[in-house]
Amino acid sequence: MYVTHLESALDGTRFEAGRVHTTHQGRPLWVRYDLSAIGKALRPQDLAARPPNLWRYRELLPLPGGIEPVTLGEGMTPLLRCDRLAARLGLEQLWIKDESHLPTGSFKARGMAMAVSMARHFGLRRLAVPSAGNAGGALAAYAARAGLQAFVFMPADTPHINVQEALLAGARVFLVDGVITDCGRIVREGVEQAGWFDLSTLREPYRLEGKKTMGLELAEQFAWSLPDVIFYPTGGGTGLVGMVKAFEELRQLGWLRSENLPRMIVCQSDGCAPIVRAFQRGERFAEPFPDPKTEASGLRVPAAVGDFMILDAVRKTNGLAVAGREQSIRRWMNEVASCEGIPICPETAICFDCLAQLRQAGQLKGHESVVVFNTGAAQKYVELLPEASLPVLRPSQVDYAALVPSGR
Ligand SMILES: *Cc1c(COP(=O)(O)O)cnc(C)c1O
Repeated sequence: MYVTHLESALDGTRFEAGRVHTTHQGRPLWVRYDLSAIGKALRPQDLAARPPNLWRYRELLPLPGGIEPVTLGEGMTPLLRCDRLAARLGLEQLWIKDESHLPTGSFKARGMAMAVSMARHFGLRRLAVPSAGNAGGALAAYAARAGLQAFVFMPADTPHINVQEALLAGARVFLVDGVITDCGRIVREGVEQAGWFDLSTLREPYRLEGKKTMGLELAEQFAWSLPDVIFYPTGGGTGLVGMVKAFEELRQLGWLRSENLPRMIVCQSDGCAPIVRAFQRGERFAEPFPDPKTEASGLRVPAAVGDFMILDAVRKTNGLAVAGREQSIRRWMNEVASCEGIPICPETAICFDCLAQLRQAGQLKGHESVVVFNTGAAQKYVELLPEASLPVLRPSQVDYAALVPSGR
């Protein structure tokens, strides 16, 4: 309704709204809105009366008014203050924005709800994605909900649950002997012959708009003033780029009370850190990372089509790109879940290692307010959960004194 046009992120070339778009010269497109018209039609306080889900920001989203969205109930996710964990990390104010509450257990639902709604609106019937994990499950679910076909290509060593959830939702699933970029090539090269639409990260314009709602929601939950620093586990980068786009649109609307945008911290694993490397070298584009290895499957993206958009977003916000240690993943998963009761995904475990590093190096101050995104549910990564080899009690012979260690 308020979309004016689309625009190449590379060179600003304009494209007409209301038609199917992919990329320009192989690089992503921005969706642009008539923000002054939105500012006249909507005030921030109007939102309070709307249902607590991502469609409450309808004016700032690309699906034309009057078109029913494809939805599984994308509720606003909790912003959880973590005082005990903050104290351990030497911070005064720390929140986890817990995206694991979304349908299919990850924030990929935000992007897919939007992209599949737009695809159905445009009459596309067969949708394909490469996926290192959660995107495949999310597409499968939203395609099923919309009555469309889903084709999912995953590296053969993708976490089991991601393969199974996609199968469960009726997707055609293919395992590939390679990494996500190999899966992406298969999807692109099959567009003509197999007749599917490529829903890869940033190769169509609308998953980004769905993920933008993380930024809108965060701003609303912070009463339109933003935290000082945001830690985000970065693979393809849609979430981080989408949030900065959200903050800029809100600033243009005049809704933001804080002057500076949050410093955006790209968090990658030291086993796959193409953006960190490009950031350190001061480059605009990132070279593919050789032999990418990480158990944080969402971060196993050796080459991102939106690399320059991620790097721009980080530099523009005075942010940083940091590599967390692969070896620390299990420790942080255990620490955060046992300290705060929030089961974090391995991607977010990497964020906590980055946070601890910056804190130690003095690049993050104790008084700065910090939000860490938990992008997915720990329960989907059964391979990484603690192994239980517990003794089995006989109900008739329980030695209670032995159960509870003395002194507690
Ligand atoms: C996909 C994914 C990421 C990376 O997200 P981008 O926005 O594409 O960088 C991080 N965490 C999880 C759990 C994911 O599924």
